[in-house]
Amino acid sequence: MRPEIKRAQHTIPVGASSPLRACRNVGTDPLVVAEAHGQYLHDVDGTRYIDFMYGFGPLILGHAPEAVSTAIAQQAANGTLFGTYCTQEIELAERITATADHLEQLRFVCSGTEAVMSTLRLARAYTGRTRVLRFNGGYHGHFDLVQNKDEARMRDSGLDPAAMRSNVFAEYNDAESVERAFAESPGEIAAVVVEPIACNMSLVMPEEGFLADLRRICDREGAVLIFDEVITGFRLTYGPASNLLGVSPDLTAFGKIIGGGTPVGAFGGRRDIMRLLDEERVLQGGTLSGNPLTMAAGLATLDALAQPGFYEELERKGALLEAAVERHRAEKGLDFTFTRTGSIFAFIFVPQAAPVRVKADVAAQAQSPYTTMYAGLRTAGYHLAPDIEEPMYVSAETTDETLEDFAARAVALLATDP
Ligand code: PLP
Repeated sequence: MRPEIKRAQHTIPVGASSPLRACRNVGTDPLVVAEAHGQYLHDVDGTRYIDFMYGFGPLILGHAPEAVSTAIAQQAANGTLFGTYCTQEIELAERITATADHLEQLRFVCSGTEAVMSTLRLARAYTGRTRVLRFNGGYHGHFDLVQNKDEARMRDSGLDPAAMRSNVFAEYNDAESVERAFAESPGEIAAVVVEPIACNMSLVMPEEGFLADLRRICDREGAVLIFDEVITGFRLTYGPASNLLGVSPDLTAFGKIIGGGTPVGAFGGRRDIMRLLDEERVLQGGTLSGNPLTMAAGLATLDALAQPGFYEELERKGALLEAAVERHRAEKGLDFTFTRTGSIFAFIFVPQAAPVRVKADVAAQAQSPYTTMYAGLRTAGYHLAPDIEEPMYVSAETTDETLEDFAARAVALLATDP
């Protein structure tokens, strides 16, 4: 173990300020990174790694893109926090709300967690109900209301069991399970919160009609439909993924990409719901919310994403990776599932013929192929997701050579797994 890791773990629980970074689920020591540029991370020894994690998703432009770094430096020189109105905040809110009709108003916070938390509070206030319907396998941040533990473990975990009791669970891609949940809690469910593309149980796409069914059920039941687009927002298109999926939620949570790698979240949607913040009936505040530094990084990022052909080029790279993985897999006669949409991808170690629709399908996979692939690719100079159910990302900086080499090495390593 590197001395820095020991040192980190002495002072910081698990050694880092977010637990997955400790890499406990892949059995390999974490990297200790000194700097990062383009597609590369450089550790404290100067060893270079090609990144497919990109900070759990925000860094769609790669590491330290010049325009974003310059914007941050300029803003830092002009003040990092004003504690009053600033034009950067207005401008970024206008740019994001302009991407979809259902985004009538928006507020900034400092994380995806806060963004989802605020949407749920709004939904409860708007409906006068308290229960929240969520999907097994979804992740919406680390506040009490969206944890997955059973009641006994909630208490052990310092969570409020009452928060858990207000949850109602259903299965992703299973509208019937949503119908059942509403039937069992009539008039009690304030909101349905869903990742429109499930990115926290590997990568699972919504089946045809599933999101439309959620829209229809929420309308009928008077519940607020919330899309958690913390990962998918601006990842697949210039705006929320709902623009591609053809279903409009009432509220949307954003994070990650819109802050250009600085601490950010945002939530927005229907004016008649957001109005509750205007009336100060619902509280959401934050010393650092909408700070000019983050706003400047977000604006510079959106400038780059708005360039013609940006998402088409990312799609080309994603397709190249998928084709290369499929080619090597066929050559080696292996059977696993590779899922991809745009620049998000995941390996799921179930046979191709097996369904991958719900959390249980993903949970059924063996851990060892991923552990083998993770360790082998680390040695080969790659940095992957530190958990089998986290997706990975291609960035604007990922080269075609990288994608070809990664695919060949990944499949060759999988072929060695017993
Ligand atoms: N929602 C989704 C879909 C996420 O993937 C995450 C984090 O990965 C969050 C919410 C929480 O965001 P944050 O880690 O910025 O609090």
